[in-house]
Amino acid sequence: MAQDSQQIAQLLFPNITVDIQQILLASQPRELAEGAEVTRYAPSPTGFLHIGGVYAAMISERIAHQSGGVFILRIEDTDKQREIADGVKILAAGLGKFGIVPDEGVLPDMTEVGAYGPYIQSERLPLYHAFLKDLVARGFAYPCFCASEELEATRETQELQKIKTGYYGRFAKHRDITAAEVEERIARGEKFVVRVKSQGADGQKFAFKDLVKGGLTLSSNDQDSILLKSDGFPTYHWAHCVDDKLMQTTKVIRGDEWLSSAPLHVELFTLMGWQHPEYAHIAPIVKIDETGSKRKLSKRKDPEANVEFYFSEGYPIKAVTEYLMNLANSSFEDWRRENPTKSHTDFVIRLEKINVSGALFDFVKLGDISKEVIAAMTAAEVFDAVCLWGEEHDKELVEWLRANAIYAQAVFGIERGGEKHRKDIAKWSDVRDTIAYFMTDDINFIRPEKVDAETAGHILDAAIGAVSESDTPDMWLAKLKGIAVSHGFAQDTKTFKADPTQFKGNLGDVAMVLRLALTGRTNTPDLHQMIQVLGVERARARFARAKASL
Ligand code: GLU
Repeated sequence: MAQDSQQIAQLLFPNITVDIQQILLASQPRELAEGAEVTRYAPSPTGFLHIGGVYAAMISERIAHQSGGVFILRIEDTDKQREIADGVKILAAGLGKFGIVPDEGVLPDMTEVGAYGPYIQSERLPLYHAFLKDLVARGFAYPCFCASEELEATRETQELQKIKTGYYGRFAKHRDITAAEVEERIARGEKFVVRVKSQGADGQKFAFKDLVKGGLTLSSNDQDSILLKSDGFPTYHWAHCVDDKLMQTTKVIRGDEWLSSAPLHVELFTLMGWQHPEYAHIAPIVKIDETGSKRKLSKRKDPEANVEFYFSEGYPIKAVTEYLMNLANSSFEDWRRENPTKSHTDFVIRLEKINVSGALFDFVKLGDISKEVIAAMTAAEVFDAVCLWGEEHDKELVEWLRANAIYAQAVFGIERGGEKHRKDIAKWSDVRDTIAYFMTDDINFIRPEKVDAETAGHILDAAIGAVSESDTPDMWLAKLKGIAVSHGFAQDTKTFKADPTQFKGNLGDVAMVLRLALTGRTNTPDLHQMIQVLGVERARARFARAKASL
């Protein structure tokens, strides 16, 4: 039999002469400090960077770098049917925007670095073949010539008999194929795949330690899974085993759709005589759909699954990063509150603290975090960021901003930098609406119901006379109170509440008339700051127009 296995290996891989010991020796041990982790993000270049991919990549990157280790970006392009042009670029450049830049693998500028490459799987075929040749030679893998109809027929039989489906045990037809038969079939030009000869048995249990999910009892693998496809490309299972061995990955952090394959992966490492890496299976980002049930963010149904969505809506990268950090470890939020100015990279991510059942995507929360991030920026930073975003997404806005740069920065400066931070911008696509009344004098004034037309007219007239360039906030407040009192309004809520029958309303009602006249809105920044930024003349003109419309 051993003789047969070696012959089969030679028949399958006649051109592979490289000695795997040499390959293993060439993979020099990494000189890393104790506790330093080697992690990788290993996406397929499907032309789409999923927000869940950024989440997984960020966790991998953090686990590596926070431990002083190495983070790898490996491209898993073994499924030629799913590949699209520019797929790698979309991944590498997209991650780069989030500051997720690997130490090894493909960089955002598409160059490849690192001594353990190539890092693109389609360039590693000889390696997969060499190790597989060894596995076949040792009798732990074999070629399978079954046609898909045959496999289908086996499946139907299994389903009829209500037993486990798949290619295993007595159903693994070519498990004990002889070298003679292999030779004959290959000579006839028959196509084959290579399968592992699993040593597991049905019903066996397998104790598995997952770094996120904890200790688990899984079923052992007993399937003779495909390791090499008939096109000569490895399956994920085999590529993972060879690559993570040669790249010396210490922690495989990946989506939990792979959890059920973990027993197979551990078996592959064992059959190769290698120690397997530790595994951390992370749950996907989920949302509550229209029917109220949880589901994965879907590439097809949810625009927010694609990172392009965040770029085009204009969420600052920092906000999305902060949000993802929060999703990964909910204690990030408290840490951030205590350390408002530190980089998110100062926070230590803990795998065992990651949500095991699926992190729920919450737009309100993302918006809140984003508002905080934007509120902490200076007016000049906001100006630059809006221009940068607008170059691609709102050229007209950029033109206006550039033509009115000083004024626009003053607008962004309202309630910024002082004690009160205005949190009214969650994303750059909000800006147009947020500053609309600074861009046009065409204000639609609607008199607040509480104030009759005649009184509103008087208030507006008084304001026209009162506003001045030299007003300090206190001076303006005093003037406003004066206008209120002389028109029958209380100068503050407390006075009003003490005896409401004495007044037409309070200071807030007077301010509301002016606010609506200036902006057409009920919720705006501070009146005084708005008047100063608009300029007294423009403010007067708006008051006058509002009065005329009464
Ligand atoms: N290419 C695999 C995927 O896209 C990678 C899984 C892993 O990280 O090992 O899911």
